[in-house]
Amino acid sequence: MGRHITIFAESRGSELRQVTYEALQAAEQLARPGDKISALLIGHGLRARQEALLATGIHELYVLDHVTADAYEPDYTFQVLKDFYDQYKPDILLFGHTAIGRDLAPMLAAHADSGQISDVTSLITSDDSVLFKRPIYAGKAFETRAFSGALPWIVTIRPNNFKPLASLSPCMSGTEVNGYIRSLPTPASSLRSIVKNVVQRMSGSIDLSEAKIVVSGGRGVESKEGFKPLEELAQLLHGAVGASRGACDSGYCDYALQIGQTGKVVTPEVYFACGISGAIQHLAGMSQSRTIVAINTDPEAPIFQIADYGIVGDLFEVVPLLTAELRKVLN
Ligand SMILES: Cc1cc2nc3c(=O)[nH]c(=O)nc-3n(C[C@H](O)[C@H](O)[C@H](O)COP(=O)(O)OP(=O)(O)OC[C@H]3O[C@@H](n4cnc5c(N)ncnc54)[C@H](O)[C@@H]3O)c2cc1C
Repeated sequence: MGRHITIFAESRGSELRQVTYEALQAAEQLARPGDKISALLIGHGLRARQEALLATGIHELYVLDHVTADAYEPDYTFQVLKDFYDQYKPDILLFGHTAIGRDLAPMLAAHADSGQISDVTSLITSDDSVLFKRPIYAGKAFETRAFSGALPWIVTIRPNNFKPLASLSPCMSGTEVNGYIRSLPTPASSLRSIVKNVVQRMSGSIDLSEAKIVVSGGRGVESKEGFKPLEELAQLLHGAVGASRGACDSGYCDYALQIGQTGKVVTPEVYFACGISGAIQHLAGMSQSRTIVAINTDPEAPIFQIADYGIVGDLFEVVPLLTAELRKVLN
């Protein structure tokens, strides 16, 4: 009998997060002929998201659509997940390595008495083994891990590392055109906490951890206003603005933008580091970016050691010039 692989379909607002489609990619890479791929979707007002998931060709969709599930509340969501797991016993569960995935996956691993491999950036599959590659020591090295064999496997995947998969390949997709929807029962509301309001702090309209382009500022931006040229560049490139802790500590921007060991981890296609020295704690959050462009007045700044392109210069001259040149190319 084939295995049952489930992806946790995470939403942001009323839309599925990109990492959901990246988890689907990982699911397809893990799947063998005869395996079943399903998704678990929890929230409220889910019709459009249900349709989007079914359009991917998954075999089954497990849904809890209820007003009490509108905002993420850990105890409540975990109760739904636990009930789902106990009833349907999936063999492999994939989560995004997001705040929610990092919250739920270990709780489920403890409940299922299984192992968990976190922050996976790629899979190495062969006929008889699967290795999970993940960064360690704040991104300075990689290790590969494998499960010892016993199921279930619980895995979180780092956003922006697997190519988002819009639809499963024909040999994997469900036999029925619209897949199969199973409604999950609503658990009692958590007595321990109630979510009253959710305040989203995002860099523009693009989620920093999923942005393809990140323009980050450090203490070198000198003020809140100093971020303006960075915001213009980010806007032109449909990217997000990030920051070093130096910039956040100096009050130039919100801590929600902080990238690094104690901030967000990003893996964009292009990372602009403007007025950032390149402290090890900052590198922990961005060193896996595909291309790093550093702009710094100090030619000895450590950021240049990991940059693919380095510009020694004043960011207040260089960034507007870059924006103007890119605007010419893009228009
Ligand atoms: C436990 C711990 C956790 C930490 N976690 C994080 C973290 O998550 N993220 C993080 O970023 N840091 C973190 N830090 C702090 C980290 O060690 C550094 O202090 C911080 O990253 C420095 O920020 P910065 O590069 O913006 O500032 P600085 O180190 O002050 O560098 C500013 C840079 O701007 C350049 N510059 C100045 N003016 C200009 C200009 N006009 N144009 C171009 N360049 C200019 C300077 O040459 C300099 O290189 C942590 C520290 C500790 C101890």
